[in-house]
Amino acid sequence: MAGEARRIVLLGAPGCGKGTQAARIAAALEIPAISTGDMLRAAVQAGSALGERVGGILNAGELVDDATMAEVVTDRLAQPDAADGYLLDGYPRTQSQADTLAGILDAAGQELDRVIQIDVAKDELVRRALGRQRADDTEEVIRKRLEVYEENTAPLVDYYRDRGMLRAVDGNQSIEDVTRSIMKELEAGG
Ligand code: ADP
Repeated sequence: MAGEARRIVLLGAPGCGKGTQAARIAAALEIPAISTGDMLRAAVQAGSALGERVGGILNAGELVDDATMAEVVTDRLAQPDAADGYLLDGYPRTQSQADTLAGILDAAGQELDRVIQIDVAKDELVRRALGRQRADDTEEVIRKRLEVYEENTAPLVDYYRDRGMLRAVDGNQSIEDVTRSIMKELEAGG
C-alpha cells in the first residue's frame, strides 16, 4: 500500500470509536495499532512497577504524567514492528506529549503523516461510554475523562490543523463507513 500514510495519530474524545477504528485501520495498512490505554491497563493487570504507579490514575480518569508516558511511548516506538509505521491511539493527549512525539520522529528522521480526528457529539459520547461497561467506566469517571479531554487534548486538534496534518472524519456513521472515511483521508495526497 505504498503512498498511503504510515505514521498516524488518531485523535478523538473517549467513546468516539478510536479503539475500534485503530484496530481496523492498522489491520488494513499492516501496521501496529499502539494504544497507550491498553498498554497501561495491561501493566496494571500484570502488577508491574508501572502498573502499580498508574492504577489509581486510570481509575480516576486522570492523565498519567507526561514523563512516564514519554518513557512508555519511546520504548514502544523503538520496537521492530513499529519501524515501518504505526497508528497511535491515545497518544499524544497533551501538548507536551505532542512535543515528545515530534522529538522521537525527528530523532529517527521520520515524519508524522496524518492526524485523524474522529468527530462525535458529546451526548452520544456519554451514551456510548455508559453502554461500554469497562471496569473504569462509571458515569463519574466518564465525565471526568471527557473533561480532561476537552481541557488537555482538544487543543491538539488546532495544533495539528495548523501544521496541515489534520483530517476530520464524521464519527456518527456506521463502523464500516467511519473506516472508509478514514482510509480515504489516508490516501496519498488526500
Ligand atoms: P479512552 O479510550 O476511554 O479515552 P484509553 O483507553 O485511551 O481511554 O486510556 C485509558 C486511561 O489511560 C486514560 O484515562 C488515562 O488515565 C490513561 N492514559 C492513556 N493514554 C494516556 C496518555 N497518552 N497520557 C496520559 N494518560 C494516558
